Amino acid sequence: MNHTLSTTSKSSVVTILRSLNWPKTIFLVGIPLAATISLHWIPLRKETFWVGLAYAYIRALTVTAGYHRLWAHRSYLASTPLKIIFAIIGAGAGQDTIKKWCRDHRAHHRYVDTDKDPYSMSKGFFHAHIGWVLFEQSDPVRGVLATGRVDISDLRSDPVVIWQRKYYLILLFLAGYLAPTLYCGLLYDDYLGGFVFAGCIATALQQQGTFCVNSVAHWYGSQPYSTDKTPKDHPLTGLLTLGEGYHNFHHEFPIDYRNGVRWHDFDPTKWVIWLCAQFGLATNLRRFPQNEIEKGRIQRRREKLDEESEKVDWGVPLEELPVMEWEEFQQQARTGCNLIVIRGAVHDVSAFVTEHPGGAAMITGAIGKDATEMFEGGVYGHSNAASNLLDTMRIAAIKKEANVE
Ligand SMILES: [Zn+2]
Ligand SMILES: [Zn+2]
Repeated sequence: MNHTLSTTSKSSVVTILRSLNWPKTIFLVGIPLAATISLHWIPLRKETFWVGLAYAYIRALTVTAGYHRLWAHRSYLASTPLKIIFAIIGAGAGQDTIKKWCRDHRAHHRYVDTDKDPYSMSKGFFHAHIGWVLFEQSDPVRGVLATGRVDISDLRSDPVVIWQRKYYLILLFLAGYLAPTLYCGLLYDDYLGGFVFAGCIATALQQQGTFCVNSVAHWYGSQPYSTDKTPKDHPLTGLLTLGEGYHNFHHEFPIDYRNGVRWHDFDPTKWVIWLCAQFGLATNLRRFPQNEIEKGRIQRRREKLDEESEKVDWGVPLEELPVMEWEEFQQQARTGCNLIVIRGAVHDVSAFVTEHPGGAAMITGAIGKDATEMFEGGVYGHSNAASNLLDTMRIAAIKKEANVE
């Protein structure tokens, strides 16, 4: 029995190892892991720590403002110098070429949560976060990834995208590893620390930040605009992903250059794009019409109200009540039933007679009568709460033509 179990687990480990994309696994997990372990022997200098963190932040910004909002969604136009900066530093983020990244991302938006979504949350948190890269396989027939088809003709004709793809590996090495190594080395003679921390570890940190958009932002938070799919909004994810955590908004309004749409939402990416626009480096910043954004928000609030409303007893709706003839109503009242007609409905007030705040006499005096006028101010103008309570006591709708004394 034990032998069978160990054979089964061994074969599943072998299957997992075989299906791994080894170059990507070594790059995304192996190198950062080795670099972190090496910190046991290589002292981490304070300056290097801050340089690494700042550079991780800058690289992440080139992905969020460049790869994502500029190239994948065309939410604004950028000048060529800005595109070149995004393309070079973005390559240093080690998240693949602009073309490949945007292709995957457009498929994600178009087929979100389905099998054609490359990082579909329906396949689990791990898959959405990093599993989709580690186990990424090509389609054996078509030779391309087996995810949904999208239009990337604009990227195919963008000279900066073409140029970055051609020199991607060189740019990755230069911007991802050599630049931080030389910066720390030439400035204060910490080549090794610069390579290990500001290069290897900081690259991995910003990669994990981006991966959180595909996992955390599809798993935890609120859905102020739509509940159809998994994307969620949360300020903490926003903090972790430079503003990409307002993901419910983003999936509803992807062409908007903002993800955190309210002025106080933490979205450094939208601030950077806005700042670039002030210097003429970015133009045509697209905003979804505020009226449409409000519509989405109101519809969702209405849905939430309806959900809450369904948990409350409002009484049987008038149209669903059985119909009672006026004579029958009076007959039942005469034989001792505590029935009163108000607003066209027969109410059984038996359990309420002794509870009536205005005294039992006031309510028993109305039994067998149409007390609408009395209820609405003839005797006492009842509150909204009283009206709601009354609705829970209705048992029949009175036949209108007979409702005359
Ligand atoms: Zn998403
Ligand atoms: Zn997007």
